[in-house]
Amino acid sequence: MPQLIDAFARKFYYLRLSVTDVCNFRCTYCLPDGYRPNGTTNKSFLSLDEIRRVTHAFAELGTEKVRLTGGEPSLRRDFCEIIAAVRSHASIHTLAVTTNGYRLERDIANWRDAGLTALNVSVDSLDARQFQLITGQDKFRQVMAGIDAAFAAGFSKVKVNTVLMRNVNDIHLDSFLAWIKTRPIQLRFIELMETGDGGDLFRTRHVSGETIRRRLEPMGWQLQPRGRSDGPALVFRHPDYRGEIGLIMPYAKDFCASCNRLRVSATGNLHLCLFGEDGIPLRDLLGEDAALESLKARISGGLRLKKQTHFLHQGNTGSTRNLSFIGG
Ligand code: SAM
Ligand code: SF4
Repeated sequence: MPQLIDAFARKFYYLRLSVTDVCNFRCTYCLPDGYRPNGTTNKSFLSLDEIRRVTHAFAELGTEKVRLTGGEPSLRRDFCEIIAAVRSHASIHTLAVTTNGYRLERDIANWRDAGLTALNVSVDSLDARQFQLITGQDKFRQVMAGIDAAFAAGFSKVKVNTVLMRNVNDIHLDSFLAWIKTRPIQLRFIELMETGDGGDLFRTRHVSGETIRRRLEPMGWQLQPRGRSDGPALVFRHPDYRGEIGLIMPYAKDFCASCNRLRVSATGNLHLCLFGEDGIPLRDLLGEDAALESLKARISGGLRLKKQTHFLHQGNTGSTRNLSFIGG
């Protein structure tokens, strides 16, 4: 099987595919004013056939894992068909979704039947009122019921993404730990990342994941050896807890050295970095099965342009105004 390898010897077997930019939440750090169609591109999102073709090309280039993201991916009415189309490529054995969870309770069993193998749910607060303040939606109980439904549907583990914010949720570490004491949840604190639209919030709310690490270790939480699929997360375990804590610290030294992922936006551009520039268009090659070899050549050729690291430390967020359009 060929492998996608860049000029810095990093291997790419993980694709994050955005299937829509649209979202029904208004998270303060992402879409504080809600989703607004981008008048300049005004392009439709990838069709089911285009999704099948682009994932076919990645599968033939050694991709083993795909994550569906967005916007809110579950807003796609053909979401079950999308899952089945991606899983139709035998070498893609892991198919995950990152979701805000509002559809989980109703649909998770169908997604699993269609071929979904892993689930990340975003939950920034365990307090229903604070959850609403952050997301603009009164859906805390619905999301919690959705996580229970995922376990009932047969998922043995659920990952939860929590964007760490100073004096918002970093002060509630104890509640998060109590929540995962008896549940097989990997709770991943993600450092707030600066985006083009989010400069002010970043300056007031960014706090390093190191502050969490300094509180966990004296309590007996132990850093685990990095698993192949952990990507850049540092994972901690504690003998008294069923759950785990993950720390994702994009501002940490060497964060980019473990990069194993490429991204395709909902309009079919290949992004080499979450904080890169406009992306390499693939869509003109997604209209027919016969373009498969050209598509593979464009993807592997594009990878040669991947830079060693992002430029966030210099305050350069690339063209990324917010993370809803390439899916975080
Ligand atoms: N709507 C889905 C959700 O919220 O899970 C999927 C898309 S969302 C863009 C993917 C992940 O990116 C979420 O876990 C979200 O919390 C995270 N995210 C969005 N903006 C972020 C930011 N500025 N810094 C860190 N994480 C962010
Ligand atoms: Fe929507 Fe996810 Fe962005 Fe929140 S983080 S606004 S749920 S895309």
